[in-house]
Amino acid sequence: MEHQFDFLVIGSGIAGLSFALRAARHGTVAIVTKKDKLETSTNYAQGGIASVLGRDDSFPLHIEDTLNAGDGLCHPDIVEHVVRSGPDRIRELADYGVPFNRSPVEGLEFDLGREGGHSRNRIVHAHDMTGRAVETALVSAAENNPNIHIYENHLALDLIVEHFAIKAGSIAVRHRDVCWGAYILESPRMELHTFLAHAVVLCTGGAGKVYLYTSNPDVATGDGLAMAYRAGACLANLEFVQFHPTCLYHPHAKNFLISEAVRGEGGRLIDRRGKAFMEKYHPLKDLAFRDVVARAIDTEMKQSGDDCVFLDITHREPDYLKTRFPNIYQKCHLLGIDITKDPIPVVPAAHYICGGIVTDGFGRTTLENLYAVGECACTGLHGANRLASNSLLEAMVFAYESAFHCAEHIQQWRKRPVPEIPACPIPMGHLNSIQSEMVLIAHNWDIIRRLMWNYVGIVRTDKRLELALTHIRQIRMEIREHLPNIPLSNDLVELQDLALVAELIIRCAIQRKESRGLHYNLDHPRKNDVAWRQDTVVRRRQVEDPRGVVGAANNVPT
Ligand SMILES: Cc1cc2nc3c(=O)[nH]c(=O)nc-3n(C[C@H](O)[C@H](O)[C@H](O)COP(=O)(O)OP(=O)(O)OC[C@H]3O[C@@H](n4cnc5c(N)ncnc54)[C@H](O)[C@@H]3O)c2cc1C
Repeated sequence: MEHQFDFLVIGSGIAGLSFALRAARHGTVAIVTKKDKLETSTNYAQGGIASVLGRDDSFPLHIEDTLNAGDGLCHPDIVEHVVRSGPDRIRELADYGVPFNRSPVEGLEFDLGREGGHSRNRIVHAHDMTGRAVETALVSAAENNPNIHIYENHLALDLIVEHFAIKAGSIAVRHRDVCWGAYILESPRMELHTFLAHAVVLCTGGAGKVYLYTSNPDVATGDGLAMAYRAGACLANLEFVQFHPTCLYHPHAKNFLISEAVRGEGGRLIDRRGKAFMEKYHPLKDLAFRDVVARAIDTEMKQSGDDCVFLDITHREPDYLKTRFPNIYQKCHLLGIDITKDPIPVVPAAHYICGGIVTDGFGRTTLENLYAVGECACTGLHGANRLASNSLLEAMVFAYESAFHCAEHIQQWRKRPVPEIPACPIPMGHLNSIQSEMVLIAHNWDIIRRLMWNYVGIVRTDKRLELALTHIRQIRMEIREHLPNIPLSNDLVELQDLALVAELIIRCAIQRKESRGLHYNLDHPRKNDVAWRQDTVVRRRQVEDPRGVVGAANNVPT
């Protein structure tokens, strides 16, 4: 079936919803999302959103903290713009009805928490369920907007891109790639759809599922990164994967994060014997940057052979803890841990990917009419390491900027002749094939995630990275060879995307011969500003097609 909208948004987290709500003032918007609309990383964010709203705070201080975290790779103009836009975007969210905690202090609007790497209290929050409060308010606003149509259980397979090779004589001197929409798979009916739009906005979130342990929900399989790469867009800095230091360690807790705000409120990391250890690693102790804390925990666990360390907040008043962290208190309580009396067992887990699809100040990718916003984008804000609570802020700011840019151009875009779009080629697997090879999907998912955890994790070496590249290429080849025997399913599509993203992360990590920010390589333990103060860019080789044929990017082998 074919659908036509002004704007196609892929993803229903903070980035997709914020863009849609603003763009809907200028045209029709389709939001496609691969599961339930609430199933997003946004919905699980706990700590809050960083913004300069305190009396003792200033834009230069937030800018400085962000640049310090980014370890030389932030783009300063982008940092300045995002930080300065923060207060306006926060007030907009409050206007949508997000119930941020208000300050008890006279004249101060919001209650402001503190997180690692921040020199001031500046985290706006709704208790410890900020993401859920934001997601619920934005979904409700989108559902009440007649210009927005939300399609749940619609998985984007690939972008529809028109490739032009601009020639001088017989030589292609320049390429133009124009995005016209996306091919979408509706489940559980397994029906293929073509969604056409004047602008497509990738808001597909992160790729935490590429690692064995992650704080991310199941939807975070890097599909947007894979689609953009296949379509020929530039991606950058994928080696910078942030490992959150404190995920709950319990056999029945899947992906549950113990927010950084717990350390902000005085929580201390201790080993099994009750000894605090962070002073050995950094002067900021428990409030050091996440990568420092994650590496410290990794080192402690490797040295002691213990499965986890502990986060102790038992010195704070029980009533205060129950009010400040109701979600964490309840979740732990259900699992038999009373955080007012017991230290919380924690381990690090893949949490956030700082790199992504390269975008400019308007969220534009290197393909015409294709935008990327939120965690899937690489805007230049985070550099080599993200400052805590800067990601929800980034998503809101670039949703605003890209919607603004689209609004300025939509009239002109509507006049363009739409090229003939072929029906969706079945990109992989068979709609009717038998279930005989389903084991290949589960097996390869597991292998990739273990491979990435063991060889491309918190601490890397050249040897492990080379081994990882060899393995992942074999796995990708195996998947391609067996595709015709596997029934088309969301799991299969995600597996192919996950495998590609894993390979791209490894390739970026191999390129960077230094240690900087979140990328720590024992064979190159120091930072090299002369050779490596630059982004690591990956891009698929140009697809030359002088006829300007429109087709699924997936038709061409990667
Ligand atoms: C547990 C946790 C706690 C966090 N806490 C904080 C915090 O306190 N502060 C902060 O700033 N950041 C925090 N983060 C990070 C932040 O939540 C995310 O970076 C942010 O929510 C990403 O928003 P997004 O809109 O880009 O993506 P998401 O919110 O992840 O949404 C992605 C959407 O894309 C959809 N999608 C993906 N692929 C496809 C496809 N192929 N087809 C169709 N739909 C697709 C998904 O289904 C989903 O709807 C946290 C993250 C986690 C996991």
